[in-house]
Amino acid sequence: MSFLPIDFNLINLDSLVDRLVQLLCTPSPTGDTADALALVAGWLRELPQVTPVFTRKGALTVTLPGRSSDAPRAITGHVDTLGAIVTQIKPNGRLAFDRIGGYPLFAINGEYCWVRTADGRAVTGTALLVKSSVHVFREPVRDREWKADEMEIRLDAQVTSAQDVRALGIEVGDMIAWDPRTTVTEAGYVKSRHLDDKAGVAVMLAALDALTVGGLVPAQRTTFHFSNFEEVGHGASAGIPEDAAELIAVDMGALGEGLQGNEHAVSICAKDSGGPYDLGIRRRLVALAEAYGIPFKLDIYPFYGSDAEAAVRAGGEYRIGLLGPGVDASHSFERTHRDALAASTQLLLAYLLS
Ligand SMILES: [Zn+2]
Repeated sequence: MSFLPIDFNLINLDSLVDRLVQLLCTPSPTGDTADALALVAGWLRELPQVTPVFTRKGALTVTLPGRSSDAPRAITGHVDTLGAIVTQIKPNGRLAFDRIGGYPLFAINGEYCWVRTADGRAVTGTALLVKSSVHVFREPVRDREWKADEMEIRLDAQVTSAQDVRALGIEVGDMIAWDPRTTVTEAGYVKSRHLDDKAGVAVMLAALDALTVGGLVPAQRTTFHFSNFEEVGHGASAGIPEDAAELIAVDMGALGEGLQGNEHAVSICAKDSGGPYDLGIRRRLVALAEAYGIPFKLDIYPFYGSDAEAAVRAGGEYRIGLLGPGVDASHSFERTHRDALAASTQLLLAYLLS
């Protein structure tokens, strides 16, 4: 493999973080992603010579011509996030809910949220344990895993009956988005819910921008796929070009005990719950990171599935890979750093050009 010099100064990290914050502040729980996809589509329309196309399933794609098209590529990242849905309007005006995506209830206890009504308004609320008040309940629930019926949504409205709630326009099936609490710190950390996978989407957009600014053409015809159903397991099961030889998911690197990754490097995944990723692609990603001096960590994610696997399970005949910024406390109070966003964009750019 030959390594042509790449000017990584083409990557605008400030713009990446700025867009990431805008994305994070646009609610997009799985099943209600139109606003976030419209935001991405608007940015894609600023790029010359590409036309964003929505798939029938509602995902967004753009295809860049390559120097060659004998082994086309696809890159996927997802805009959909964890969320919830109203399952019952209780007689006392509180809402029962069901989680969308996989996360423990302790990760949302006390979290603010928005309930989206049929006419598009948002009613604010808070996820709380039914027995939250220590002044009322002698034995508050603690020190064990809570069950779904022990938590509810308290709406910020004067409601004391199901009728009051329905008068607000809220009905069973309405989507609930968690407050991301997005904060960028002076030290370069981005603290927010839903960095999984809006960080990956921002990385993909930054790589597209760098190609445009540098007048660079990818090695192969490459389709960027912005997925809208990843968190429930079938995002990229459709929408990837049938002739793609390789499919790379740009998604968060899991961090924690027993793993090598951190918030200052791009994680390259060798294997997750779905089995090993393509060995050739993984070795190529490592070789690229080493050749260009990009900080990276190789890891095995014990409890993780990606949209690349969803695409293969749906019958797609692609070799697959997975890379992305290290994200701490995933599916909980997440955090990453500008370093990981930069390293991920560099590695994606190097892959696209190699
Ligand atoms: Zn993800």
